[in-house]
Amino acid sequence: MQTISNYNFKGKRALIRVDFNVPLNEKFEITDDTRMRAALPTINKIIADGGSPVIMSHLGRPKNGPEAKFSLKPLVKHLSELLGGARVKIAPDCIGDKVKEMANNVLPGEVLILENLRFYKEETAGDEAFAAKLAENGDCWVNDAFGTAHRAHASTAVIAKFFPNDKMFGYLIESEVESLDKVVKNPQRPLTAIMGGAKVSSKITIIENLLDKVDNLILGGGMTFTFVKANGGKVGNSICEDNFLKTAKNIQKLAAEKGVKLIMATDVLAADDFSQDADTQIVPANEIPDGWEGLDAGPESIAKFIEVIENSGTILWNGPVGVFEIEKFANGSRAIGEAIVAATKKGAFSLVGGGDSVALVNQFGFADGVSYISTAGGALLEYLEGKTLPGIAAVRGE
Ligand code: AMP
Repeated sequence: MQTISNYNFKGKRALIRVDFNVPLNEKFEITDDTRMRAALPTINKIIADGGSPVIMSHLGRPKNGPEAKFSLKPLVKHLSELLGGARVKIAPDCIGDKVKEMANNVLPGEVLILENLRFYKEETAGDEAFAAKLAENGDCWVNDAFGTAHRAHASTAVIAKFFPNDKMFGYLIESEVESLDKVVKNPQRPLTAIMGGAKVSSKITIIENLLDKVDNLILGGGMTFTFVKANGGKVGNSICEDNFLKTAKNIQKLAAEKGVKLIMATDVLAADDFSQDADTQIVPANEIPDGWEGLDAGPESIAKFIEVIENSGTILWNGPVGVFEIEKFANGSRAIGEAIVAATKKGAFSLVGGGDSVALVNQFGFADGVSYISTAGGALLEYLEGKTLPGIAAVRGE
């Protein structure tokens, strides 16, 4: 398989699918440029080789054709700054003769951004004729948008067929996939997954898939109480999904059958209010008094979680084990973060991913202490669910 490292871009127009779907404020200023920065290694490699980067992205959710507020124009100046002053131009469209002419005339060291792909409904529909028109703007295709790799859109997957010998991942997808495979394909054992968050329902497919892979599964956060209730315990006012009680039973049965050690909270920090001013008490996880709700793991549970994490070879963390947004209920999640950092120092590979987990790691300042942080959201979750991602399969020719 071609890789970005061994491909020589000299004299080539490199059509790069990036995820420049950055948040803009009402003045059209970029409020978080993480996604743009993430694509820089790929763009810089192409420029360094003497190639011409032609950038494709979507931005927001335009409904019916072009809309000024979803234009990629506000990104031009900032991309130029990020590239050390390189000349960055924007095309008036993403397909058509004018665009093709501009793509043919990107000088060495320059960059061309195509206008928002989603100004055409054919993009999300995965239309082949549209993909063919996009393909006319490049000599090779580089997919560096992991965030949209779970979608079979024209620019993220369908376009691959027009570059049978000139398609590859960019550095961002390459490192995402490598890191994820260190967890799901060939982990250093023992492999521990920590799944937290509010609900069982949103994590069930991942949990089921992980049961085939992990040695230890720590289940925490709000979903604890669906398990507690399923096992006949008292959950008080805690968040609980009554129509997932059977599912919770089944997960426990499957874990036992597969020899997976399932670790859940045995004590919790219960509160009489969902606020920093709440009164709190530590109670057994299956004896939450009426009018109280479990909002964080208790000290006994935290100690158990830490022990498992610190003895792991690979750790995957998705979702907080308490309401970490409120300081009073952040101890469990903070302790997990600290244990992951400690395990990583001792040589474990740790991957943190999924929207809230990333916020969590940043909030507590653990970002430098974990091996990899995935910002991919939906694509990451589908990868962990064991699904084939069209944007990955298209590059690999699967
Ligand atoms: P998710 O998006 O499913 O990962 O859920 C993350 C959310 O779960 C965070 O906003 C947490 O505040 C919330 N959460 C974690 N533990 C609890 C709990 N015990 N009760 C209610 N919400 C919780």
